[in-house]
Amino acid sequence: MKLLEHYTKQLEQLRQQGNFRQFTANRQQGRIIEIAGQHMLNLSSNDYLGLAADLELRQVFFDQCPLEQRWLSSSSSRLLTGNFPEYEQLEACMSQAFDGRAVLLFNSGYHMNIGILPALSDGKTLILADKLVHASMIDGIRLSSAKYLRYRHNDLNHLQQLLQKYHADDTYERIIVVTESIFSMDGDETDLNQLVSLKRQFAKVMLYVDEAHAIGVRGARGLGCAEQYAVINQIDFLVGTFGKALASVGGYLVCEPVIREYLINSMRPLIFSTALPPLSIAWTRFVFEHMQKMQKQRDHLVNLSHHLQHKVQSLGFCCPSSSHIVPVIIGDSQPAVDKANYLQAQGFYIMPVRPPTVPANSARLRISLTSQIQPEEIEQLVALL
Ligand SMILES: *Cc1c(COP(=O)(O)O)cnc(C)c1O
Repeated sequence: MKLLEHYTKQLEQLRQQGNFRQFTANRQQGRIIEIAGQHMLNLSSNDYLGLAADLELRQVFFDQCPLEQRWLSSSSSRLLTGNFPEYEQLEACMSQAFDGRAVLLFNSGYHMNIGILPALSDGKTLILADKLVHASMIDGIRLSSAKYLRYRHNDLNHLQQLLQKYHADDTYERIIVVTESIFSMDGDETDLNQLVSLKRQFAKVMLYVDEAHAIGVRGARGLGCAEQYAVINQIDFLVGTFGKALASVGGYLVCEPVIREYLINSMRPLIFSTALPPLSIAWTRFVFEHMQKMQKQRDHLVNLSHHLQHKVQSLGFCCPSSSHIVPVIIGDSQPAVDKANYLQAQGFYIMPVRPPTVPANSARLRISLTSQIQPEEIEQLVALL
């Protein structure tokens, strides 16, 4: 009992700060989420194109996938017996989409980010990361033996200053710049063109860009901001997840063939974990091919996003977003929680995001739009804000 008291106290502290977390049971049908008998429009979803909730699409997939191919486990790492044809098919299909570059799959975006960075780094590596990169990249950096500095969020001038200072330092043989294209909490974006032109000025620099929130959503074929800004070939490590717009599970890396081979030989979460079920991989390929044709939904999402960004701004909130993720930054945790509860009672499922997920005093409502939302619904929501 004595030993548990410590944890009880920690939890009490979190409750007092309004930062206590717990699971909420829910049921979902299309764009509607039901919690404790209440039906709400889901504005906290990462299902940006509505593909996870699309029953027709799911039916088409199952109809063309015979039972013998519906493997629900790979029973092993890909390096042992787990390398089913589905893996190579998805990698080949993605490689073709991404200008013939090499592609490697991972069990999740989290696995990907905690695995690649330590595998790539040694004592002669310097990692420069945006201040607001996702926890998975922070964990990857911590697991690595690289030296590590953070530059001010989205401040590429600060990054340039750090590069000028450290590039001349012979201690480092390589400098890996780590960032996201669309950021998960502010919904703002890295200027990939400027980032790429910085890289061109410094021979030791490699770019690591996480497109978790951009894959499926940006670019003419939904390949992400790298496609939108025509820099697919300039980013050394282009990573993303299938868990969001792609309605599946897993992560991917687009890279040079030598990096792919190197990771197969050194990346621990890839080597020592059972590969995803082949059925999931087959579904990912099915969705990946389908989503490339969804330009209409992407355009709709852009229009909705601009509309909401302007409205939030005109209400007097600072709105850093230029994407479908639109935060309403409130400050203290408790008022953010209260506001979220109010909106939920009115039928809009919006969740509060609090420290430590976001910096202190920047608790917020995080509105995440999908192509399933209609402009009238944005109007109704804005009236309640
Ligand atoms: C969600 C997310 C991840 C994690 O991906 P999973 O596939 O859910 O593990 C990684 N990076 C970023 C930026 C994310 O938003």
